[in-house]
Amino acid sequence: MIGRRVRRTVTPRPDSTLWPAVIVAAFCLCISTLAGQAPPSVEYRLSFPAPQHRWLAVDVRFDGVGEAPLHVRMSSASPGRYARHEFAKNLIEISFTGSDDAAVEVVRRGPAHWEVAGHGGEVRARYRLFGDRTDGTYLAVDATHAHMNAPATLLWAEGLEERAARVTLTPPDGEAWSVATQLFPTGDPLTYTAPNLAYLLDSPIEFSDFTLRTFTVPDPADPAHRPTFRVAVHHAGGEAGLAEYVAAVESVVRETVPIFGEFPRFETGTYTFIADYLPAASGDAMEHRNSTVLTAPAGLDGAGSRTRLLGSVSHEFVHAWNVERIRPHSLEPFDFTAANVSGDLWLAEGFTNYYGALILQRAGLVGAGATLARFERVIDTVVNGAGRQFRSVVEMSRMAPFTDAATAIDPTNFENTFISYYVWGEAIALGLDLALRERTGGRVTLDDYMQALWERFGRTGAGVPGVVTTPYTPADAEAVLGRAAGDPAFAREFFARYIDGREVVDYVRLLEQAGIVMRAVAPGRAALGALPLGGGMRVARSTGYGSPLHAAGIDRDDVITSFDGRRVTSGSDLRRLAGSKRPGDRVRLGFRRLGRDLETTVTLAADNRFELVLLESTGATPSPGQMSFRRAWLGSRQ
Ligand SMILES: [Zn+2]
Repeated sequence: MIGRRVRRTVTPRPDSTLWPAVIVAAFCLCISTLAGQAPPSVEYRLSFPAPQHRWLAVDVRFDGVGEAPLHVRMSSASPGRYARHEFAKNLIEISFTGSDDAAVEVVRRGPAHWEVAGHGGEVRARYRLFGDRTDGTYLAVDATHAHMNAPATLLWAEGLEERAARVTLTPPDGEAWSVATQLFPTGDPLTYTAPNLAYLLDSPIEFSDFTLRTFTVPDPADPAHRPTFRVAVHHAGGEAGLAEYVAAVESVVRETVPIFGEFPRFETGTYTFIADYLPAASGDAMEHRNSTVLTAPAGLDGAGSRTRLLGSVSHEFVHAWNVERIRPHSLEPFDFTAANVSGDLWLAEGFTNYYGALILQRAGLVGAGATLARFERVIDTVVNGAGRQFRSVVEMSRMAPFTDAATAIDPTNFENTFISYYVWGEAIALGLDLALRERTGGRVTLDDYMQALWERFGRTGAGVPGVVTTPYTPADAEAVLGRAAGDPAFAREFFARYIDGREVVDYVRLLEQAGIVMRAVAPGRAALGALPLGGGMRVARSTGYGSPLHAAGIDRDDVITSFDGRRVTSGSDLRRLAGSKRPGDRVRLGFRRLGRDLETTVTLAADNRFELVLLESTGATPSPGQMSFRRAWLGSRQ
């Protein structure tokens, strides 16, 4: 921004004399002299002398840090990943020196916290770090690339969070790797800057021989604003499928912007998709302010494989608005030393998930069959999920530190106590979209709600890159819904019942508006519910609270041996026999527990599986009203 303004000022207008230009030049000199007095930046130098051994070397300098001890930290959390991750565990070695490389006193204050004293105003840290996971959270170094999530890679110092940072990369000997990142470029293609620590740690870096494609899309609200989109793909497949993939990414971008009405002002003028589609990559994706990381052990050469990758593209791109700029207070500021607890992930992640699916549908990248199958799974997970007996979607959001790629060695009971806020939030978004359309005759939709949130909380003002100045609270989210719907009482009731409460909307009625039928797969048929069987007839996981098996006292490690006096040897046997009865029938169930043969009585339930189908597939004809509802909802908005 500053560079552009200065350039415009020094360009003499045709009628100007020489003097104003000279004055402007002198003024610019003053600015650059002042800039020279700004606090020193933090300097990172990254090198990769032996990438095949999966480590990198980092040399960090903190200058002008005064006389007090400096508290240096590795992060224990990474924005967008809601559990703790101890990135310091992969340090191979670390050392600190002070001014003139003199020895310093170092006290290890915590697993990822060093107190450095006696440094004489300057601290230098040198470390080597192992990393072998290509995804959105961790660090991977190998002979083909360095794929770096910043909190997993860069240590930092307390009290210097507002300082700018400079990152310089040196490729392995003989490699001509280049850099894909949202960091600010400099004249040197291997050196980048960040205006502060929050932006630095939000900036992943892919350093490899990737393929780069770019396109621009005009902002519908301001055609002069044409952000550049970069697609950096590190993959093994050459050109096959690449052009089709990039075209699909562009159609995702074009289909997303009408939802919010305008593009964010990406601070560098660009948004970068960093895609690593490699055999050794993990299936993952992570949002950042002006970029996203997309990883999968898949190639681009098959249409089916490409389509599966696009769900992450659309989800993560929606995050450029929802979460990166429309950000809940519970995630701002982000705590790099612990997990932020947020009750708002149903909106931050769940609504993003809904749009991720809807955008692919609207852009014609998937068909209605795939979209209905997805919504079917989503509604089923929520309607039939045992966790809804215990927690609202707000409380599920607060489970994220335990569930979002969190690792533990003891078993959990999440199949009974947890429903993903991604899925439940998506179900709420679907219900709210349909409910808004229903009550306003299609005049107000979920897009209007997202746009209202964008205008109130997301639109970027003169803020500092990396810092969200106006995060929202749950009360704000409800108030904006009330305004968008033109009815605060509707918003209050919706939040009370479906967000703070544990009810679900009437999907049957709401979907009917679009000529979509939600119906039982096997009406009147009896069932045992989910059968969490492992090898053979052993119950491998907790039986579902409220399910027939659970009510009959069956649980983990029991081995089911007979049903109604007949020996059973497979899950399909058991399902078939149960299906031959009627809901409510009481049947003897034999099982083996701890070496003893036992018997119980199970009361069969009604088969609760359902499906979503287009009305026309049932032989009926949708009304013109249903067809226009469907087009307005699922059709392109471009
Ligand atoms: Zn997400």
